[in-house]
Amino acid sequence: MVSRVIPVESFDLVIFGATGDLARRKILPGLFRRFCAGQMPAEAQIVGAARSEMDDTGFRDLVREAIEEFGGGTPREPGQVDAFLERVAYEAVDAKGDSGWEALRGRLRDENVRAFYFSVGPGLFGDLAERLRKFGLASPESRIVVEKPFGHDLESARALNRELAQYFDETQIYRIDHYLGKETVQNLMAVRFGNVLFEPLWNAQFVDHIQITVAETVGVGGRGGYYDESGAMRDMVQNHLMQLLCLIAMEPPARFEPDAVRDEKLKVIRALDPVEPHHIVRGQYDADDKQPGYRAHVENPRSRTESFVALRAAISNWRWAGTPFYLRTGKMLRGRTSEIVVTFKDAPHSIFGAEAGRHRNVLVIRLQPNEGMTLDVTIKEPGPGGMRLLDVPLDMTFADALGPDGAEMPDAYERLIMDVIRGNQTLFMRGDEVEAAWAWTDPIIDGWERRGEVPKPYDPGSSGPEDALMLMHRDGRRWRDIKA
Ligand code: NAP
Repeated sequence: MVSRVIPVESFDLVIFGATGDLARRKILPGLFRRFCAGQMPAEAQIVGAARSEMDDTGFRDLVREAIEEFGGGTPREPGQVDAFLERVAYEAVDAKGDSGWEALRGRLRDENVRAFYFSVGPGLFGDLAERLRKFGLASPESRIVVEKPFGHDLESARALNRELAQYFDETQIYRIDHYLGKETVQNLMAVRFGNVLFEPLWNAQFVDHIQITVAETVGVGGRGGYYDESGAMRDMVQNHLMQLLCLIAMEPPARFEPDAVRDEKLKVIRALDPVEPHHIVRGQYDADDKQPGYRAHVENPRSRTESFVALRAAISNWRWAGTPFYLRTGKMLRGRTSEIVVTFKDAPHSIFGAEAGRHRNVLVIRLQPNEGMTLDVTIKEPGPGGMRLLDVPLDMTFADALGPDGAEMPDAYERLIMDVIRGNQTLFMRGDEVEAAWAWTDPIIDGWERRGEVPKPYDPGSSGPEDALMLMHRDGRRWRDIKA
């Protein structure tokens, strides 16, 4: 299989926060890979911007180091790094001040598509948007890309939406949830809507329950300050897990087009029931003999911020009424995995009798690592001695199925930036979608605060607090194991 590179229009991409962690780790190395793939037109350029004073040469040194450290291996051809760096420039600007903006405008070319990536803290989004207009950098066709977190709650997300709307139309705003740029996440739509096999069974009549797990082995580490203000609910559930839930649960959109897809996702979020307090478990990892616990990484030694959440969600619509969705995410868990498990109901009648046991089809969609799918199918256990049944997985690891080229999947950021240049918003969150997600999560967080709830401790390297296991046991179900 040979991967195709679809050309894009020539562009000027300005990265605000170009000296920051995200730019160095993801955005700049990602753009370099697109350059190597031949997807950067001859007249396209990247302009870094931040307060730090440096010239083009200084910034190119920074980009070179970022590529070496985070670029995932050496370039495919000699000289490619130098050729890429020729397309890179820098202007010092302050989002809160007026210096540097005229010079930045002077760098841009009228004939290029303009995209402005706000890779800075959300407190600067409004300032940047205002100055882009004030100094005449943005045209009606220009796009802005804003990073997560998009707000801290419904009120702040609304305020941010209002602020950006003063300067940019919704069709110009690209709110990134990098999860949506993952190849395997998009594959959820291909699997659901490209096959005739699944969709007729994709409802409460045939699906017993669905599990969505995003587990990390790392702790909060150096991000303690940010994380402690946020927690797993805001950092993971409100965005990544809800996006996965939407893609799994939504109705088929009429077309694979931005608003058609986003309308359907929004309907799912709006159909979510409020979560009962006994249907949610929050946890915080403890210390063990090898490493300190959560509280050692944050300023507040009594912090009640959760590093783990497990909850049972219900979608009140015709398709899903009665099918629970179990969501789970946490840090310092046994393994690093993102997967969706769709457990189908028992066959309506077993012709093999009770002794054949209980067998269920289970579809597991692995988003990372080792992207692929398995479908447990019931077959006859080989050998004589009657009809004994056995569940075996039909296993498809995408890297095996697609060959070496297929295994080389573009990083989420690469794909999403190219979508911005193309003007395709399908994989970006719309303002109303973000607000609806906060409207669902806010009461959960408020409830914890009102009740003064303390997260349950859990051991590093475990599957989370015991109560999370009970959340499913009580319903006669169990989580799929998180593999080490
Ligand atoms: P960071 O390392 O703190 O970088 C912030 C950048 O903003 C720096 O380049 C800084 O450069 C620039 N900056 C700060 N104040 C400025 C001002 N007044 N005017 C112009 N530039 C200014 O932050 P980050 O980790 O890269 O994160 C950037 C954004 O991405 C945040 O919204 C974050 O939540 C989000 N995000 C980050 C990650 C990640 O993995 N890092 C993941 C998801 C989302 P100067 O000091 O030179 O101005």
